Amino acid sequence: MKPSPFEYVRATSVADAVKALAAHGDRAKLLAGGQSLIPMMNFRMVAPEVLIDIGNIPGLDEITIGDGSVQIGAGARHNVVMASDVVRQHCPLLADAYSHVAHFTIRNRGTIGGNICHHDPASEVPLVLTLLGASLVLAGPKGNRTVPADTFFLGMMETAIAEDEMLVRIDVPFQPAGEGWSFHEMSVRKGDYAIVCAAVRLTVKDGAFHDVRVGFNGAGTETKRMAGVEQALEGKPATDATIAAAVKVAVDLSDPSDDVQADAAYKRDLLSALGRRALEQARARASN
Ligand SMILES: Cc1cc2nc3c(=O)[nH]c(=O)nc-3n(C[C@H](O)[C@H](O)[C@H](O)COP(=O)(O)OP(=O)(O)OC[C@H]3O[C@@H](n4cnc5c(N)ncnc54)[C@H](O)[C@@H]3O)c2cc1C
Repeated sequence: MKPSPFEYVRATSVADAVKALAAHGDRAKLLAGGQSLIPMMNFRMVAPEVLIDIGNIPGLDEITIGDGSVQIGAGARHNVVMASDVVRQHCPLLADAYSHVAHFTIRNRGTIGGNICHHDPASEVPLVLTLLGASLVLAGPKGNRTVPADTFFLGMMETAIAEDEMLVRIDVPFQPAGEGWSFHEMSVRKGDYAIVCAAVRLTVKDGAFHDVRVGFNGAGTETKRMAGVEQALEGKPATDATIAAAVKVAVDLSDPSDDVQADAAYKRDLLSALGRRALEQARARASN
């Protein structure tokens, strides 16, 4: 299929893009890497009358160091974020999760901003940005506002961004030295969206787990972080028994559904196996 006819506008700055969004309202959509939007247009799932191309805005793809955070421009391509020394050094959980995102050619075009704004709940990036406590900087007609990742991601392909706003930057706080982290996923083929994935951050002090953040995709829950699992680990001895108990909580709290890729029982098995693997690896990486 081919998309419905549309008008093409090339934005030369963020202000230019925001102005175009205000002028065209809900008839328009921003075009970043086009790796989600164009297939949806070809399938006629969406039919914007105006495409505002933000792929050539100078500086929108920059990755810089801010005050205790890595500042990633919304237009940074997946492969660039994944290979960035700054990201690898200060936010290794994000770099690691990126090794599971899509296929090489898609990562060459797709952007971190497009991924976040598209918000497929199976995507690795929103999950780890939530665990990392990232902040999203949005530009709109009244100026910029910052939204924590915790409250940005709503339902399936739903976010807190307004129709007249554009995501310009993602600020990801540095992971503290000594922190343990891990990301594991299972997909049908490498580069496909995950059936289930598990992400973990924690520290180990005096033989106990602290500062625990755990999240899953594919668990069928509304939120990305699982508070019940975090509570089952926080302050508890950093032992296999604690991990086994926490993983059981994850399975009990989950509500996965059957789909074309896997049935709910298999997803529960994955939650258990990937959750245990991620917790064990994070514990091994944490310095005591
Ligand atoms: C075969 C295949 C496999 C894939 N596998 C994975 C996977 O395993 N994991 C994964 O995470 N993703 C996967 N993807 C999706 C990929 O990561 C896309 O690149 C990404 O979801 C969209 O990024 P984009 O830059 O291409 O955005 P686009 O497709 O251009 O835009 C997507 C949406 O975001 C909006 N948008 C874009 N930029 C902004 C902005 N700055 N501000 C506000 N709104 C904006 C657009 O208007 C549109 O609604 C896959 C895609 C394909 C085709």
